Amino acid sequence: MPTPKKKTTRSRRDMRRSHDAVTAPTVMNCPNCGSLKLPHYVCSSCGYYDGREIVATTQQ
Ligand SMILES: [Zn+2]
Repeated sequence: MPTPKKKTTRSRRDMRRSHDAVTAPTVMNCPNCGSLKLPHYVCSSCGYYDGREIVATTQQ
């Protein structure tokens, strides 16, 4: 198996990991029904986007 020639230092390793942090997704309340939804996404519970019904919901 190929082996690295040099040991990766703590500094190099930690610099590589500086972009690895995960953040919680941004959520907002739907202006139509108030449930949590992702911004710029059609609401999954009422099917509304920008004040209009885009996706017809099954339960009426
Ligand atoms: Zn909604």
